[in-house]
Amino acid sequence: MSHYDYIIIGAGASGLLLADALGSDPYFSSKSILLLEKESKTQNDRTWCFWEDGEGSFDHLLRKKWDHIYFAGKKLRLSTAITPYSYKMIRAIDFYSHYNNAIEKYANITRITDEVTAINEMDDCISVEGKINSYMGLKVFNSIFSYDPIHQQKKYPVLQQHFIGWFVKTENPVFNAEEATFMDFSIPQNGNTRFMYVLPFSETEALFEYTLFSEHLLEKEEYENAIKAYLDEHYGNVSYTITEKEQGSIPMTAYPFHKRNTDSHMYIGIAGGWAKPSTGFTFYSTSKKIKKLITHLKQNKPLSRFHQQDKFWFYDMLLLDVLAKNNDLGQSIFESLFKKRKASLILKFLDNNTSIWEDIQMMSAPKPIPFVRALFGRLF
Ligand SMILES: Cc1cc2nc3c(=O)[nH]c(=O)nc-3n(C[C@H](O)[C@H](O)[C@H](O)COP(=O)(O)OP(=O)(O)OC[C@H]3O[C@@H](n4cnc5c(N)ncnc54)[C@H](O)[C@@H]3O)c2cc1C
Repeated sequence: MSHYDYIIIGAGASGLLLADALGSDPYFSSKSILLLEKESKTQNDRTWCFWEDGEGSFDHLLRKKWDHIYFAGKKLRLSTAITPYSYKMIRAIDFYSHYNNAIEKYANITRITDEVTAINEMDDCISVEGKINSYMGLKVFNSIFSYDPIHQQKKYPVLQQHFIGWFVKTENPVFNAEEATFMDFSIPQNGNTRFMYVLPFSETEALFEYTLFSEHLLEKEEYENAIKAYLDEHYGNVSYTITEKEQGSIPMTAYPFHKRNTDSHMYIGIAGGWAKPSTGFTFYSTSKKIKKLITHLKQNKPLSRFHQQDKFWFYDMLLLDVLAKNNDLGQSIFESLFKKRKASLILKFLDNNTSIWEDIQMMSAPKPIPFVRALFGRLF
């Protein structure tokens, strides 16, 4: 059995960022590190977007960035700058190849393709069972996500941000490549929170994602028919080809994922609860968490003490309580935010960066009654 100081399970966003942060930091050069991944990761299986104030460490990987966004509600139509932010997009395949190349150069990191089937904590180490081999580690960072633990509890409702995306290429130039559609709620809601998300890369290329914040997935045809209808309605029956597709389901819940962590086994990424419960945005928050985790490891603190609860978890929980009870309210809640508050403030709030005064401004925008009910539901 091979022994390591650290074992990272999963070479996706969180696993690769952690491996790179450990490998590039001389502090950890004496640590032996194993990165276990079950897949080859040679496909472009997702597109990550996030917003950032100014330049950032992923800029060399960007496929596109936008300084303007579009929002539509039932009545509102808003094109707006998001200064000081830019909305930035990375294709997963560019991210994987950049970080895999970097990690290959770190002498203390071994990458093995194996599927983990069991993890057993013992007194002084952890055994990780794979289909091919078994591995021993002193600390394990685990990005295997499962809906099982969150569906086994009732305290926190579990919604999903679920979507199918089409990359389309049109014959004629029809897109405004300078503006990303952050949320278009003008589409039929059918009792849920549904919106279209559009990322135009050029005048003839764009990604369309039909997205819901709701409990249950739809049949594939329903997402795809909605994208087709949207394209027909908004671009006058333009002829196009679908060049790629992507799909996803991201958990939206205030479930305390961190309670599953122990002193030496920690869940990271979506499995660690690093997805923003109220939006599903995970990528940028993961990069921030990895920086904090590196500091935590240098302080030699137990992994069980990494998590820090903040006020934003509570706000997210209330919004999810509201949407779980009245799933159609998302449209009006987001519409009142964009109608009454600046887009940059909304992004700051969704990035967990606002002051109490700014929080009050945000929370006073939508109709208060559903939130007051949700608050009372939590308090009594
Ligand atoms: C299509 C899509 C689009 C998204 N877009 C955005 C976005 O725009 N912005 C944003 O912030 N977030 C987005 N997300 C959410 C989130 O950022 C991503 O899901 C992100 O990849 C999560 O990182 P992670 O490390 O938690 O999981 P992953 O990146 O999924 O990595 C987990 C890794 O573990 C491996 N693995 C799983 N089980 C095993 C096992 N048993 N043994 C070994 N390896 C295993 C998997 O193969 C995978 O490589 C998107 C998600 C999807 C699916």
